[in-house]
Order: sequence, then C-alpha cells, then structure tokens
Amino acid sequence: QEEGEGGEEYLFKIVVIGDSAVGKSNLLSRFARNEFDSNSKATIGVEFQTQVVEIDGKEIKAQIWDTAGQERFRAVTSAYYRGAVGALIVYDITRRSSFDSVKRWLDELGSFEIDFTLPFHMLMLQLIVVATVECLTPSVVLRALKYPVYLDFAGSGTKGLAERALVEVEVWLTHCDTAIARMLVGNKSDLDNIREVSRDEGKSLAEEESLFFMETSALDSTNVEAAFEVVIREIYNNMS
Ligand code: GDP
Ligand code: MG
Repeated sequence: QEEGEGGEEYLFKIVVIGDSAVGKSNLLSRFARNEFDSNSKATIGVEFQTQVVEIDGKEIKAQIWDTAGQERFRAVTSAYYRGAVGALIVYDITRRSSFDSVKRWLDELGSFEIDFTLPFHMLMLQLIVVATVECLTPSVVLRALKYPVYLDFAGSGTKGLAERALVEVEVWLTHCDTAIARMLVGNKSDLDNIREVSRDEGKSLAEEESLFFMETSALDSTNVEAAFEVVIREIYNNMS
C-alpha cells in the first residue's frame, strides 16, 4: 500500500469455462484483440492471453485462460483452475443444454483433487500444498509453516496437532473457494430470436449461486468488456 507509483504489480488469473461452442474463445479474442472468428476451431496451443486493464489508476494484468478444446472431452484438469482468482462460466442462450451444464462447471471450479485414501500424514501434506498453491497469500503460507506436522512423516505424537491443522486447512480451502470472483455469462445475445434460455432464468440461477450475471455477444461486442471488467474489479476489491 505504501509503495509508490509502479511499485505494485497485479496479475490475476481468470479462467473461462463452459460447454464446448458456447463462445469462450471468441469472448476472449473479442476482449483481448477485438476480434471475432465465425469459424473458430477448438483452441489449440495458446493457453492464456494477458490483457492489461486499469482500475483506480492501477495497472492490472489479467491473465485469461481458455480451455484448449478439452471441455469437449470433459478433460479440463485441476491445473487449469489452479491459482485462479476469477472465473467466467459461459453458456449459450440458444442452447439449453449448455445452461443445464452450469452447475457441473461450478462444482468443478470449487473442487480440489485431494486423495483421501492417502495415509493421514500424506493427506496433511497434500492439503497444505493445495491450500498454499490455490490461495497463495503470505498469511496462509505462514500459518501452514506454523504446523511442523508435515515434516513428521512418522506421525508419532503429533496427531492432535495434525487434526487441528486439517481443520484449519479446510477453512482456508473454503475461504479460497468463495474468494474466486465468479460471473455467469449468457453469450450470443445477438441471437435473441432463437433463444432457449430467458434472461430471467440466467438471472435467477446467478442469484441462487451468488454469481454476477451478464448476457454478452462476442459477435456484436455487447457487454464483453464489461463482463471481464466486473470480474477484475471484484478481484481487486476482494484484495483490500
Ligand atoms: P468455445 O468452444 O466455447 O471456445 O466457442 P467458440 O468461441 O469457438 O465459438 C463457437 C461458435 O459460436 C463459433 O462458430 C462462433 O463463431 C460462434 N459464436 C461465439 N460467440 C458468438 C456470439 O456472441 N454470437 C454468435 N451469433 N455466435 C457466436
Ligand atoms: Mg474454444
């Protein structure tokens, strides 16, 4: 806070998720390069684009991740979500099945791949690693280090401490999860004449799940910048 101009760097990882062909890649290309591609193929190669946005006079780098078409095979891995502080969950207003998938995407976003069949001390180690990687704030790391239990692979005499740490780590994970700024996006608003999902349905789902909500069109640019900016601003506000 006390650093002078240019002394702070903000890099926010934001993921774009949703069923295949809802327009994720086009929302990103519209936002990052003001481009739209009507024959866009599944994204290949490029995993993210970085866009600089100014908020309250601060330069913020939004690193926006696009699935490289893996969503077709439901093969989006936890590495994709790791470290994300914002998410756009996209559906296509002309395809109800993509709206019905939103809950599954939300579940994936909030879940961590933790192997609960591991021996207790290894489970602890894994939980701490996940907590620190997912939510890399200094206080979390410091608090994790306060518990030397993960160094004690024999686990002798430290079970009480380990159990306390486990509870704490779970609390951090819950906190990290809810700290992700999430926006529900109903894309292809230009195709209003063939819509299958009403605006009100999108709005109610967003209210139910505590998400921001906007209808966008990557084709005619409606709300594209606004959707990303609301998420970026929310992340920025969450930090202070
Ligand atoms: P992704 O699989 O979610 O990344 O979807 P794409 O960005 O590849 O888009 C899938 C198809 O939908 C492409 O044919 C796009 O041209 C089209 N599309 C994407 N966004 C819009 C939009 O806002 N309006 C319309 N009419 N078509 C769109
Ligand atoms: Mg794509």
